[in-house]
Amino acid sequence: MSELPYIEILILLMAIILICLLLSIKNRNPLAADVRWVMVSVLVPMIGNIIIASATSEEMGQMGYTLFFIGTNLFFYAMMRFTADYCNYDFNRTKHQYAVLALIIADIISVGTNFITGFVFTLHRVLGPGHNVFFIMHGGTGYVLHMVLSYLLLAIVFGMLIYKIFHVSRLYIEKYVVIFVIFLISVAWESYYMFVVLYYRPIDTSMIGYGICVLLIYYFSLFYSPVMLLGHMSQRVVSDLETSIFFFNSDRKCIYANPNAQRMFHITSLTLDKTVPLLHSLFDYCDEDLYSDFTREVHIGSRNSASERYYRVQYHRLHDKKSRCIGGFFSLTDHTAETKKQNEELFHSRHDSLTHLYNRDYFSELVRQELDDNPDTIYLMTVSDIRDFKLVNDIFGTDVGDGILRQIGATMAQYARKGTIFCRLENDQFALITPKADYDEAFVLEYLNDISHNSGDVSYPLVIHTGVYEISEPDISVSVMIDRAVMAIASVKNEWQSKVAYYDNNLRDNLIQEQRLTASLDEAIIEGQIRPYLQPQVNSEGKIVGAEVLARWIHPERGFLSPGEFIPVFEKNGMIAKVDKHMWQCACAILRKWQDEGIDLFLSINISPKDFYFVDIYQTLTDMVSAYGISTKKLRIEITETVMMNNVDNRLELIDKLHAAGFLVEMDDFGSGYSSLNLLKDIPVDVLKIDMAFLNETKEKEKAKSILKSVIELSEQLKIESLCEGVETREQAAMLKAMGCKMFQGYYFSKPIPPEDFRARYLSKN
Ligand code: C2E
Ligand code: CA
Ligand code: CA
Repeated sequence: MSELPYIEILILLMAIILICLLLSIKNRNPLAADVRWVMVSVLVPMIGNIIIASATSEEMGQMGYTLFFIGTNLFFYAMMRFTADYCNYDFNRTKHQYAVLALIIADIISVGTNFITGFVFTLHRVLGPGHNVFFIMHGGTGYVLHMVLSYLLLAIVFGMLIYKIFHVSRLYIEKYVVIFVIFLISVAWESYYMFVVLYYRPIDTSMIGYGICVLLIYYFSLFYSPVMLLGHMSQRVVSDLETSIFFFNSDRKCIYANPNAQRMFHITSLTLDKTVPLLHSLFDYCDEDLYSDFTREVHIGSRNSASERYYRVQYHRLHDKKSRCIGGFFSLTDHTAETKKQNEELFHSRHDSLTHLYNRDYFSELVRQELDDNPDTIYLMTVSDIRDFKLVNDIFGTDVGDGILRQIGATMAQYARKGTIFCRLENDQFALITPKADYDEAFVLEYLNDISHNSGDVSYPLVIHTGVYEISEPDISVSVMIDRAVMAIASVKNEWQSKVAYYDNNLRDNLIQEQRLTASLDEAIIEGQIRPYLQPQVNSEGKIVGAEVLARWIHPERGFLSPGEFIPVFEKNGMIAKVDKHMWQCACAILRKWQDEGIDLFLSINISPKDFYFVDIYQTLTDMVSAYGISTKKLRIEITETVMMNNVDNRLELIDKLHAAGFLVEMDDFGSGYSSLNLLKDIPVDVLKIDMAFLNETKEKEKAKSILKSVIELSEQLKIESLCEGVETREQAAMLKAMGCKMFQGYYFSKPIPPEDFRARYLSKN
């Protein structure tokens, strides 16, 4: 040992420690301060040892040993602080720390005053193996106390480390064992010198051990990252992942599959070689793909089936620091649940929940896209609407109504040709867009017919009206296109058969006209633009017995308007009640005048089907009659045949009340709608107004004539007076008279004329 250049080695170690000390200044590790204290404190006993080793006088020896003992106190204390922080114990500023400090200070005082007291040690000069002089220490009581303190400190340090080693996860043991072992070796080395060697040799080579120990502590606590721990952690993460992971080596052989991957593909760590062909077959990649990273969305199984799955497949190559490939990993994330949920949400946002057809918004989006993508194609926007669907819901219940709508959806899907987009707009309206070249009205009617006779459980032929707008202005909004098709429907609204109607700009103009008429109605009534015209009703002797009051609008801009131009408009929006009340009032005024002049004629007024919803007919008429002081006998009330058919009980009640008040009730337009002879015996009308229209048009005139004859005879038997309207020729009049008809009305006798003309023509002669 004596050959070792001991002092030089210590100086070299001290120099290295100093360099490390400087390097650690910038270290941000929270342990850095503790480590610096350890490094600084170890220098003191090292210097002490160097002085002892080179002491030439007793004073130098004294100084060396004093420094050495004080230095070990400081070093052990620094080690204790470091260990406490390293092991995360609360030590600083605790009672324990202060107690230890007090003991250390006491020991330092005892050591520091040794040159006077000799309490700790005394020195003896000895001659070394060569010619050197050494000072050997002989410990006194103070030395024992010093040693007790030193081992107490060491025991605390080891205790802390051992406790940690037994109480942390195995993954962390490495961290404590390293420090424990290094320090243990150093302490053992030192103890050997303390108790064995130092009694005959002053050179304590164990300081080399402490120096190295401090350097290792410096490295392990500030720079070493626990590879085993990281490895374990990474593996834990990978094996706990819900993603399936496969590791490949640089030969593209599978070397690891995490538990999830093993479960999913029924492989084990022993059958990893099966992985590659499996991945090949499932995700359709080739070996070349593994030369670069990729991400792929994979969909397996048919849509909405139980086996349907969605995966995100990723391959990522791994490189070392010099960019050499060390392999790669393949990850497979099953996001079936999220994707299905997303798909479902998307479906709901785009589809109608009842029929599963597209909804209006998504349809509009698709139409806009289709039009923009095909600027040279002409398309048709078609909207179908079920007539009186509210009635279907009302009569059969909404469940049946929903069933019908679903059935329509299914029929549409079945008939839809390629290139058509269709949807349920709302309620009972369905829209469809198709290239004009593919459009065929016969096909549409066939399809409408199919729908109307396949409406689920109900054997009720639906009437479906379809409006078609040829998209001549593809730049207008889809919603306006739909409106135009709906406008076309309005033109066939009153048809009782499924019909297809086409939009043209007149329709729009008409709609605008209608809106204008509606807006100016109140003013027109006040200003007397809406006037009664009278059409005479004559008896079988040709004598005038009364007249029908028919409305005319003398419009300030558009001139003479016949009822066909405005009555249907107001029937549609319910304003007809205003017109009617005005006409009834006019009739009462004329009757009052006639009554005053002693003219004994009656007037027939028209009641629109809509009046039943908007006016209390009985109350209004009785009030008017009494206000004008005229006889109810002179005011006859025309109610159309169709009105009589709906809501029969209410109608009967009303007719009874009107009869009781003295009015006569006429059934208007008999023969124009669903005439039912049965109805005649149930409804107590006084006059049957037979519509001649069917006689004019029909080919089988003879048959029609015999029906007409039967109707007239039947009404006679039922004591109902028959009146034929629309009589245009002398022949017709003669024929009807021969058949037994009691009254006549028609152009043959007179067109409807203004009351002044009526008076001039018929009443002045009387
Ligand atoms: P309506 O009640 O059936 O009235 C008879 C219609 O037949 C009248 O047409 C009349 O001018 C027409 N007419 C009379 N004789 C002949 C004929 O020989 N040949 C032909 N081809 N037609 C004839 P108008 O005045 O144009 O009225 C049409 C319809 O308008 C009326 O049919 C009625 O339903 C409705 N209407 C007219 N005025 C009113 C009214 O004040 N209130 C209500 N609610 N409806 C009215
Ligand atoms: Ca009438
Ligand atoms: Ca009529």
